[in-house]
Order: sequence, then structure tokens, then C-alpha cells
Amino acid sequence: MNFDIIPREALNMAGLLESRGFEAFFVGGCVRDILRGTRPNDWDIATNATPEQMKECFAGLRVIETGIKHGTLTVISDGLSFEVTTYRVDGKYEDNRRPTEVYFTRNLADDLSRRDFTINAMAYSPGRGLVDIFGGREDIEKKIIRCVGNPNRRFHEDGLRILRALRFASALDFWVEEDTASSIHENRSLLKNISAERVRDEFFKLIVGPGAERVLLEFFDVICEFIPEIKPAADFEQKHAYDLYARSVRTMAAEDKGDKYVRLALFFHGIGKPDDFGEDKEGRQEYEEQNAELAGTILRRLRSDNRTISTVKCLIRARHTATPKAEGEMRRLLAFFGEQNLRRLLGLRRAEISAQMPGQRPPGLEEIEAAETLLSEVLKKECCLSLRDLAVGGEDLIALGMRPGRGIGKLLTGLLDEVIDGRLPNEREALLRAAAKRIERKK
Ligand code: ATP
Ligand code: MG
Repeated sequence: MNFDIIPREALNMAGLLESRGFEAFFVGGCVRDILRGTRPNDWDIATNATPEQMKECFAGLRVIETGIKHGTLTVISDGLSFEVTTYRVDGKYEDNRRPTEVYFTRNLADDLSRRDFTINAMAYSPGRGLVDIFGGREDIEKKIIRCVGNPNRRFHEDGLRILRALRFASALDFWVEEDTASSIHENRSLLKNISAERVRDEFFKLIVGPGAERVLLEFFDVICEFIPEIKPAADFEQKHAYDLYARSVRTMAAEDKGDKYVRLALFFHGIGKPDDFGEDKEGRQEYEEQNAELAGTILRRLRSDNRTISTVKCLIRARHTATPKAEGEMRRLLAFFGEQNLRRLLGLRRAEISAQMPGQRPPGLEEIEAAETLLSEVLKKECCLSLRDLAVGGEDLIALGMRPGRGIGKLLTGLLDEVIDGRLPNEREALLRAAAKRIERKK
């Protein structure tokens, strides 16, 4: 374990508290991540000082009262910010949600025992070393997620912990310990009491994790609690529905960059009732259209932002777009999707192809790789993808004798199409010549 990576500013902050006789411990995620040998996202400090006492210790530093009622201050030192929180225990939990009140305590052990999982309930201070009351270190070694205390009680206190357990299992690629797992299955309906936003945040972290496939399969029933659409549709067999789900999840996990949008699109693409849409293109498009709408409905219910909703829908709809082989086709798709989404679309195709032959190198991958190279080449060349980039504008056409009106826009779009396809260069003289020819033809 390497506690040397704690930033100097964070150590100073703990030092400021200790120099006034208070305790200061690094707690939660940062201790867990150091013991796992990964770099923590943030450095949370817990202390027996009250918020008022903390403010005195941090006089001279910038302090933001982020959650003063809950005892949390954000302290900024040399541009880095840290959360410092008074030891606390949670008060009454109503409706299996967040506690309505919190109480401060002078005792670190109390603070640690309110935490959700053993791996998240450790503390460390350079002077006192590691405080590990619940066996978190051993659970990290065994790679398991285990509740602090009685799982049933802990999930009844806060139902979100059910999904947090799944999220950590996926993100850390850990297993959920047996008692905790059976309690999760048993208490899964408690998720109904949790706000859509909190469910969404955990679910999105779950699906991008390296253990996502395993967790989503093992806890299918839990996912059904907030996405009932994946439950077996009434008119086809349960087994078949689960197989479809398993296939979507496997494909999703074959996406190798952890891109949230691509993973959501792959997770949702097969949830619609697979009507017998046949092999014809129109039927297939209609099916994707239905699935895109359904995914949109679910994501909206989870209060996802508009960008997530529209990107996921776009990817589902575009799933069957032929992989571009020529520069012109590539530029056309680039103009339509934009670079980011086009890259995502290729990533989605790559995952679909890889999932068909796990562990092998399916032949279709070459086509995707060629397209990715082509995309980079096209992007390197300065290219014209919208009317704004076109080397001629409406006024040029008027100068050529066109009357102002809708015809101008049409002609410009026609020219743009030819430029994108590579049939015309984006050069003023050439475009004016082509435009003049067309105007002549119309006369
Ligand atoms: P990450 O690296 O994803 O931020 P984290 O462990 O820091 O992981 P947070 O959600 O930021 O996770 O929570 C910080 C700490 O607060 C956790 O490690 C845990 O000890 C405690 N905690 C957070 N949410 C809960 C909860 N619902 N119930 C009990 N303890 C919780
Ligand atoms: Mg955190």
C-alpha cells in the first residue's frame, strides 16, 4: 500500500486540524483506492472538529460551506479542493431514503459504522495508520463487496445502497458477498423509494464498469425494478426474453472504451419486443425506431439530460448504417453525425462484431479499423461539411443572376452534397462554374 501518494495539500489540511488537538483521518473511497493500488479521485477527510472549529483551523484558506448542515466544508488549498466532514452518525431514515437528520459524534468508529460497505469504511492517518474495524482490507484482497453490519437493516435504511453495491462490484470488478447478495435480491423493491436521479447516477457508473456484464446478469431482477421494460414481455417466453437481455449485455460489455453513450445504446438496442421484422431494410429500421423511442422514454424517466437521450437514440437508429469505405461516404456521415458520434457509431459496430466471436478476431473488424483510419485521414484534410464552410454563398448566386428565394438554398445544398462526396472541390471558381451551369440549365 502506498499512502505516499496523498497530496501535500491534503496532508497540510489534516495537519492544521491536528495541530489544534483535533483528529483528522482520510476516509472512504481514497483509502479503498490506495489499498487497491489505484489513484483516488478525491481525498475526503473526517474529523472530530465541528464545522465552526474547522473554520477556525482553516482561517486563511478558502472555505465553501458545501453541506454545512451535514458537517461538510470544502476547503481549497493551492487550487486543489478537499471535503472535510465532521464525524457523524445518521439520524432517522424515512421511506428507505437518505436520513432526514444527521448527528455529529466525537468518535471515528461511529462514523465508520454508518458507511455502506466494508471496503468503504476504513480510515487512515499518517500518525495513527490504518483503522479497519470491519475487515475492509481483507475484503479488498478477496475482491468482495460486503455490507457493514446486517445487510437487511442497511438496505432498509437506504435502498440506494442496493445499487451502490452493484455499481462498486462492476466498477472494481468485485463480487458481491453471499449474504449481501441474497439480501439485495430479497430487498430489491426498496429501490422504488429512491429518486430517479440517484438511481441513474449509480446505474450509469455500473454500466461502464469492467464487471458490468457479470453484475447485470446476476442482478437482472434488480435492474428490472427500475427498467421493467426488460422484463419478459407477456407474450413471449421468459427464457427467450432473458436470452435477449443476456445478448445485449454481452454486446454492451464488448465495448472496450467504457463510453457511456455506446454502452447505453447497446444495452437498450434489443429491449423492444422483437417482432418478426424480417430481413427487409424498412422493417428493421422501424424496429430500431421503436427501440430508440423506448430507450428515450426510459432515459427520460431516469431524468437523463437531453444530450444523453439524443445521443443514445441517434446511435440506436444508426446501428445499421453501412460502414463507410470511401472518402465521400465518410464525409457525408461526418457531416451528419459529427466526429464524436461517428466514432461512437464505429465503436458500437466494433462491439457488435467482437461480441459475436468472443476471444477471437472476427473478420468484420478489419472493415471497422479501415473506417477508423479513413476517418482520421478525412479529419486531417480540411474539409467542408456544412453550408458555412462552402466556398460560395447565396450572394454569389444572386450575382450570377438568381433571384433571391428558396431556390438559392437548394442549389447551395446541392453543391455542398457534391463537395462532401468529393465530386467537386471546395473552391470558389469551380463552384461558381458549376452553379452557373445549373442556373443555365434551369432557364
Ligand atoms: P468514488 O470513487 O466513486 O467517488 P466513493 O467511495 O468516494 O467512490 P462516494 O459516493 O463519493 O463514493 O461516497 C464517499 C463515501 O461515503 C463512501 O466511501 C462511503 O463510505 C460513504 N457513503 C456514500 N454513500 C453512502 C450511502 N448511501 N450509505 C452509506 N455510506 C455511504
Ligand atoms: Mg467519492
